[in-house]
Amino acid sequence: MTTVAAVVAFLESLAPPHLAEQWDNVGLLVGDQHRDAGRVMTCLTVTPATAAEAVRRRADLIVTHHPLPFRPLKRVTSETTVGRLLLDLISSHVAVCSFHTAFDSARSGINQRLAEGIGLEGIVPLIAAEDGEGTGRCGRLAEPMPLATLVAVVKDLLCLARIQWVGDSAAAIRSLAIGCGAADELLDAARHHGCNAMLLGEARFHTCLEAEAAGIALILPGHFASERFALEQLAGVLAGQFPGVEVWASEDERDPIQVG
Ligand SMILES: [Zn+2]
Repeated sequence: MTTVAAVVAFLESLAPPHLAEQWDNVGLLVGDQHRDAGRVMTCLTVTPATAAEAVRRRADLIVTHHPLPFRPLKRVTSETTVGRLLLDLISSHVAVCSFHTAFDSARSGINQRLAEGIGLEGIVPLIAAEDGEGTGRCGRLAEPMPLATLVAVVKDLLCLARIQWVGDSAAAIRSLAIGCGAADELLDAARHHGCNAMLLGEARFHTCLEAEAAGIALILPGHFASERFALEQLAGVLAGQFPGVEVWASEDERDPIQVG
């Protein structure tokens, strides 16, 4: 039998909790660590759709990127979305664990996967922690390429038909900073590293203006697309590590933002 604790311990080795931002809550968030984790589902976020899929397909454990619960709770009732999700999952014995910012920053985490997928060289964290790991990534392109070409590379990597970007499409991009999800606050670090482009999952309008004024191009595939692929890859990693466990990436999860 593979316990919830065994799966969580393996995930902690991939995404050490000390890499998490101090405001974050990572690790086992819901459930009994001694129970069997014979069926494991990965997803980006626990939503009514992904929670229902986990219950319907009798998952023992959800490995979600975004924590549930995230903020401290004073009550768990059916009056709130978070309360309803927790009541449904707990009554069906579905445990929940999350590695969020630890997985963003880990050696084989989301930002590293994006950097390698794009083919960056000399990849380093944007903000280094003491042990050489850290937040975000940046690196050089093997050859400078026009922004329009780099945009096409990112679309291809993340299988996107459309993508938002900021900057002159003919600008020669030499080095790229990366911050998956919502990471506007990393723009200063990108500037500090001398990057002339940055991939952010999403950015506020004023961050777009600030980047444009600073001569830093932005590529914005969307919060969902910048992270969801890594939870699909993580399902494969877990299946390889625990051959007796049935692991799948949620099939009902969708980006709530539609593009017309
Ligand atoms: Zn995110």
